[in-house]
Amino acid sequence: SIPLSFFSGIGLASKRGILIKGSNYIEALCDLKTVVFDKTGTLTLGKFKVSDIMPMNGFNKEDVLKYAAYVESFSNHPIAVSIVKEYGEYIDKTKVNELKEIAGQGLIAVVEGKKVIVGNLNLMKLNGVKVLEELSGTVVFVAVEGILAGYIIISDTIKGSSKQVIEALNKLNIDTVMLTGDNKNSAENVAGQLGIKQYYYGLLPQDKVQRFNQIKKETLGNVAFVGDGINDAPVLKISDVGIAMGALGQDAAIEAADIVITNDEIEKVYEAINISKYTRKIVW
Ligand code: ADP
Ligand code: MG
Repeated sequence: SIPLSFFSGIGLASKRGILIKGSNYIEALCDLKTVVFDKTGTLTLGKFKVSDIMPMNGFNKEDVLKYAAYVESFSNHPIAVSIVKEYGEYIDKTKVNELKEIAGQGLIAVVEGKKVIVGNLNLMKLNGVKVLEELSGTVVFVAVEGILAGYIIISDTIKGSSKQVIEALNKLNIDTVMLTGDNKNSAENVAGQLGIKQYYYGLLPQDKVQRFNQIKKETLGNVAFVGDGINDAPVLKISDVGIAMGALGQDAAIEAADIVITNDEIEKVYEAINISKYTRKIVW
C-alpha cells in the first residue's frame, strides 16, 4: 500500500504548479544522481528575437528575411515564429511548394520556383551550401538555389534563476548536464554562464535519445530529464523522471512526461526535489 503522505506530497506539489503523475516519481526524485537539461526553452526563455540580418552574395536584408519568413511560416518552432514576426507582412503561402521540415535542423521548400533552404549549419552542409563556420549565437542560414543569401542572428535569454538552480543541484551532489540541437558557440556560451561542465551540442532528436541513454548507462542512480517538449518528447519518455516545463498546450510532451510543471519557472525543478525529500521524511 502507498503511504498517505505520498498523496499529500503530490497534493502539495500540485498546489505549487508541479503535477506529479505517481508516488513512484517522488521516490525517484529523492535518489537523483543526474539532471539532464534541454537548453532552448528550458534553461533559456526560448523567446527568440531577430537581432541582426547579414546578407551576402548580392542579396539584400529584405530578400533574406522574406525568403526565410515565407518558409518559416509553415513551422511552429520558436525560431520560426520570431522570423515571421520580424517580417511582419502578409505571407502568400501559395507561393511556397514542396515543403519539408527537418526536425532539429530547419526547412527546405520551393519559393516562386527557387529552392530555398532555411536552417542551421548542419542543414547547409548536408545540402552542399558553402558557409562560414565560426559564428556566435543561434544563427539561421538562408540559401537560395544552392547559394548562401545570408544569415539571421537570433537572440535568446538565459532564465533569471537557471544559474541558482544549477548551483543548488550541484550542492545536493546532483550532476548537471545540458543537451542541445543548437551550435557549439551558443552551447558553450550558455553552459559557461551557468557553470555546466558537461554539455553536448548539434544534436538531432535521435542523437539526444542516444546521448541520454549513454548518460543513463554511466550513472549509478536516477537520471532526470528536463525539457520543454519541442523535439524532446522521446527523451522525456526514456528518462527515470521526465519533467516537462511550460508545456501546457503541447499534448505530446504532457503525455510523455512523468512530471509536468505548468509554468516555465526552472526553480520548480528544485522545488519538486525538496517536496519529495520532505514527503519521504514524513513517510519513514
Ligand atoms: P534545442 O535542443 O536547443 O531545444 P531544437 O532541437 O529545437 O533546439 O533545435 C535545434 C536547432 O535546429 C536550432 O538551434 C536551429 O539551429 C535548428 N532549427 C530547428 N528548427 C528550425 C527552424 N524552424 N528554423 C530554423 N532553424 C531551426
Ligand atoms: Mg527545446
